[in-house]
Amino acid sequence: MINRENTRKVKIGNITIGGENKVVIQSMCNTLTKDTAATIKQIKQLEDVGCQIIRCSVLDLEDAYALRKIKENISIPLVADIHFDYRLALASIESGVDKIRLNPGNIGGKENVRKVVEKCKEKNIPIRIGINSGSLEKSVLDKYGHNCPEAMIQSAQRHVDILEEMDFHDIVLSFKSSDVRLTVETFLLASTIWDYPMHLGVTEAGTKDYSLIKSSAALGELLRKGIGDTIRISISDNPIVEIKACKKLLKAYDLIANVPDLIGCPTCGRTMYDMLPIINEIEEFLETVQADIKVAVMGCVVNGPGEAKDADIGIAGGIKEGLLFKKGQVVRKIPQEKIVEELKKEILEMIKQ
Ligand code: SF4
Repeated sequence: MINRENTRKVKIGNITIGGENKVVIQSMCNTLTKDTAATIKQIKQLEDVGCQIIRCSVLDLEDAYALRKIKENISIPLVADIHFDYRLALASIESGVDKIRLNPGNIGGKENVRKVVEKCKEKNIPIRIGINSGSLEKSVLDKYGHNCPEAMIQSAQRHVDILEEMDFHDIVLSFKSSDVRLTVETFLLASTIWDYPMHLGVTEAGTKDYSLIKSSAALGELLRKGIGDTIRISISDNPIVEIKACKKLLKAYDLIANVPDLIGCPTCGRTMYDMLPIINEIEEFLETVQADIKVAVMGCVVNGPGEAKDADIGIAGGIKEGLLFKKGQVVRKIPQEKIVEELKKEILEMIKQ
């Protein structure tokens, strides 16, 4: 099995993935690419919350040309997502994108692929081959009878072979499905075959709750095994939600720096203050903080500080008040209505120190 440290390094603009590099967070714009103002605005918002690579759909030449202006106005690497039309790939590369997502077997013959590959070589641009269980070739499905890891791998092999025959190895691979087990098993199998870096994700994962569960189940298992160089958590929502989720998942595996952690008890009959709005506000606040600090919001003073003994700082609820604690030790009482404000202040103070 190939773990992350042994994957081939691939440069995407100013970011290198693979090898010993950290797992990188990606998302995709849901604006029209040709609406450059809206797309640039969305990418800047995504950059602000921690998106490291952004992908835009290229449906026609107008989109491909729009990428130039987008690229000039953003700081993170830009990926052009292309299906079927090699001319869109060529135009996107001319516009200055940092990576192409395209399946070489689907762009109409080797001559077309060759033109794209030559351009990518000239500009040092990698190609991501993205296999999706929903769009496997008929011949592959006929052979295996259904979607399975072997079918996904065979589909990828055809595309990889085309690029390798042209001596092109700046490849990233992804295998996506809405099925958690199929996703995991395919990536596991792929990691025994190729050393190309892999982009992880569960596709069509649904709304936030469904996606967080499916994506954490699949990506968690893979990340734990050292597989995955970039990730996306696809959610039917504003892509900002995806970035926040990616950061929290990577934090859970200690694969990201400068991201806070939040501990919260589930509440029970001992909770004597209005804790839930407080923990929600603190979560929102922590999403704006860049530091490795562990914050706890706990329901009662009897068990709170003890249960959250690993936290750097936190609140344990009393009767309509909270007790501020640091490293498990109670420091002072704060009236309920002042908890959010005081805790934020204390967190910022602790970070400064
Ligand atoms: Fe219940 Fe207190 Fe534990 Fe929260 S910390 S779950 S309120 S015992």
